[in-house]
Amino acid sequence: MAAVDTQAPPSTQCSFLFDAEHEAFRAEVRRYVEQELNPRSDAWDESGRIPREEFLRAGELGLFGLAVPEAYGGSAGDCRMPLVMAEEMARARSRGVSMGFGAHSAIAMPHLVRFGTDEQKARYLADLVAGRRIAALGVTEPTAGSNVAGMKSTVTRDGAGWVLRGEKMFITNSVNGDLFFVAAKTNPAAGHRGVSMFLVERKTPGFSVEELKGKLGRRASDTGRLRFDNCRLPADALLGQENHGFYQIMQCFEHERLVIAGGCVGAADMVLEETQKWVQNRVYGEGTLADMQVTKQRLAKSATELEAARQLVYYCARRVMQSIPSLKEVAMAKAFCAEAAFRIIDDCLQLHGGYGYFDSPVERAYRDIRLDRIGGGATEVMYDIIAKQMGI
Ligand SMILES: Cc1cc2nc3c(=O)[nH]c(=O)nc-3n(C[C@H](O)[C@H](O)[C@H](O)COP(=O)(O)OP(=O)(O)OC[C@H]3O[C@@H](n4cnc5c(N)ncnc54)[C@H](O)[C@@H]3O)c2cc1C
Repeated sequence: MAAVDTQAPPSTQCSFLFDAEHEAFRAEVRRYVEQELNPRSDAWDESGRIPREEFLRAGELGLFGLAVPEAYGGSAGDCRMPLVMAEEMARARSRGVSMGFGAHSAIAMPHLVRFGTDEQKARYLADLVAGRRIAALGVTEPTAGSNVAGMKSTVTRDGAGWVLRGEKMFITNSVNGDLFFVAAKTNPAAGHRGVSMFLVERKTPGFSVEELKGKLGRRASDTGRLRFDNCRLPADALLGQENHGFYQIMQCFEHERLVIAGGCVGAADMVLEETQKWVQNRVYGEGTLADMQVTKQRLAKSATELEAARQLVYYCARRVMQSIPSLKEVAMAKAFCAEAAFRIIDDCLQLHGGYGYFDSPVERAYRDIRLDRIGGGATEVMYDIIAKQMGI
């Protein structure tokens, strides 16, 4: 991606995490969001679909290969570039776009990068990096969301291959998707020790998708229910080690939760900036809303919480870059950022009064942020992980 001569946003200048290359990338993603996505994304929110061509455009900009080896068309970076992308994409008018892109590149693809064989990577990665194929991760089931180990989908051996049966629920990119990373039990009696991951191509006979409509937020991203009716998979559809799928999912959660936390920071940052402008311009009596001490206090408190959230994410990123085990810290970041961003955006909407209740950046952000307390592991699940890591 070409470097752009734009000054780094003030919020990130003191992060001690990013260098000039990251800030040039940040400026380029911000330009992409403001000039290319924002003018068009309202229509995608309406239709509930990101056009496939937009995945090609994002692929062209290098957004999907940030943590992919160069041999497959990626730029082989560490977690910082995906974090910058998450922060900046979350500032978009439609967070549905960042959801579709993120489910593809930050949630599904890392499974292939980490656990795929050379043959699997050679078959799929270059197309995924370019946005020619779209990926989705299927873990959640109708009766097993937070309790991943409770999944009921099964895979049995069949000659040289496998047969997949079951269902997945709430899967992002299920309508647009070409390649699905699906978790199912290869040994149902073994609980979480019997889960394996499989690569399932859309054209597989017996595989069907039901689109789910009526989401609160993230509307541009498509969501669906997957059904696997005796789907025959080739022997090399197994991704990673048989019966190690649960551990693979947990390993990939670290990256997923880090970028979700980064997205929360980006979304709250954008709304806080908008709200500061709003209160300074909103006439109230002889002055503006910003003249009231309660407004100043409210925004100062939000800015303080936001900075704490940001620095917790950056602290986790540094740990992850140094390969320091960070299950607890990343769970803390995911929980803290989701809860803080929700509170901040709610407070900002309050300061917009009726104008915040109608279609506006703050109204969308309010709808869009709600998912962060549920998806990628609900806040309560994060607290469970933290407590367990504390030895409680
Ligand atoms: C728009 C959207 C997109 C999604 N995309 C994907 C995707 O691409 N791939 C995928 O696999 N999944 C996806 N999900 C699923 C998401 O990860 C799950 O919704 C989430 O993990 C929660 O599971 P659940 O909905 O079954 O809720 P449940 O597991 O039934 O939990 C309901 C609530 O119970 C509480 N709770 C749960 N566990 C505990 C606990 N241990 N202690 C205390 N309280 C608890 C929490 O408040 C939780 O919100 C998506 C969901 C949505 C809404």
